Amino acid sequence: MQSLGNDSELAVSKDRKYLWHNITPYSEKNPPMIAASASGSWITDIQGNRFLDGMSGLWCVNVGYGRKELAEAAYNQLLTLPYFPLTQSHLPAIALAEKLNEWLGDEYVIFFSNSGSEANEAAFKMARQYQQQIGQHYRHKFIARYRGYHGSSLGALSATGQAQRKYKYEPLAGGFLHVAPPDSYRRPVGMTVEEFNLQCAQSIEDMIIWEGVETVAAVIMEPVITGGGVIVPHQVYLDRVQEICRKHGVLLIMDEVICGFGRSGRKFGHHNFNVKPDIVTMAKGLTSAYLPLSATAVRKDIYEAFKDNSDDYGHFRHVNTFGGNPASCALALRNLEIIEQEKLVERAELLGKRLNTAFTELLDHKLVGDVRSFGLVTGIELVEDKVSKKPVDLSIVKGIIAECKSKGLIIGKNGDTVAGFNNVLTFAPPLSSTDEDVEFIIDTFKSVLSGGWVK
Ligand code: PMP
Repeated sequence: MQSLGNDSELAVSKDRKYLWHNITPYSEKNPPMIAASASGSWITDIQGNRFLDGMSGLWCVNVGYGRKELAEAAYNQLLTLPYFPLTQSHLPAIALAEKLNEWLGDEYVIFFSNSGSEANEAAFKMARQYQQQIGQHYRHKFIARYRGYHGSSLGALSATGQAQRKYKYEPLAGGFLHVAPPDSYRRPVGMTVEEFNLQCAQSIEDMIIWEGVETVAAVIMEPVITGGGVIVPHQVYLDRVQEICRKHGVLLIMDEVICGFGRSGRKFGHHNFNVKPDIVTMAKGLTSAYLPLSATAVRKDIYEAFKDNSDDYGHFRHVNTFGGNPASCALALRNLEIIEQEKLVERAELLGKRLNTAFTELLDHKLVGDVRSFGLVTGIELVEDKVSKKPVDLSIVKGIIAECKSKGLIIGKNGDTVAGFNNVLTFAPPLSSTDEDVEFIIDTFKSVLSGGWVK
């Protein structure tokens, strides 16, 4: 960065030459935004333009940017002990594992990795091995939902239910099955939300039975589908899913990679629904993305099935060199303290309500089909007409996002192009956002929507 100074043209040309961006089409026309610094909820690019980060990066910078305490926590730990593998142990990992139990409000044993995908991969392997270890040798299948996202590595991608991210990389891992999500906005006419959610949950039990109960290892889901278009279930859905899993000896894995750490207005997304998952995976907000770290939390009695196995085949044969890096753990602990001290979980709920109230007023707009919120996550589903609910063309979604950006607001879009849904605009600013930040998001978005986009 030093050698490029603030020469944005040179930086762009070198970026083009050397850097392969994540999930973004290569385009000569649209140069990438090159961020230079950030503070609070605002990012400054190398030309000095400021943007409010309405997506907290990739749904992850929960405490906002520029936290000196986090840098210090990592710095001090790097000087004390920069690395030690978790084949053995170190103090920051122990302290963080204890803290995560406090946050989860239940007894779990914690396995650390670096990313959400890896946390899910570990969960899949644990679930399969656990089932074998308790004598359920055929239980290897996983049931997930269409539109859900669980990561980019081949197993986590197999669990993902978005065709657009998968079809170029098939065949993927075997044993991953999908059911429809409880997308209440698109429920059949004449059916109540509750009835529809029960029907969606029932499709999981039906699949377990059709596949053969003794072949299913686990169900994986986010408490609320976030990246797949903010699909919020009714309470009856998760009640029933939990009941079905217990009835059939199927583990329930909750992917809290986005919903965790206050984003949902509770410590974890599943706390909103009073479910007790067998395995909880987490990443992103765990360190507010200042350093890589993820975790797979496993119910104590599942862990017990791996303990003290005399034949040397009973332990979990999974290693992750960087997982649980001491500096990442120390930083995560400080991050959780900040969330507690500044009451950011409660703040997420408050700010989320404000966003939801303001955006619900947009339901009169011709393109706004639905507004869905969950904690500090809001999704606005854009449709061509409100009766057929036909999604708007992707060019409209992209146009709105570009217009917001030109006014200094970064927002997201989510869905699945291949399946014909890429029409949900998303908002998930840092939990530490000020009231003014949130009003800026509302005013800017409203002005864009009531400007050139009213047809
Ligand atoms: N699960 C969910 C719900 C996610 O949203 C993501 C990332 N967006 C992942 C897993 C994968 O996380 P990572 O990109 O850190 O591998």
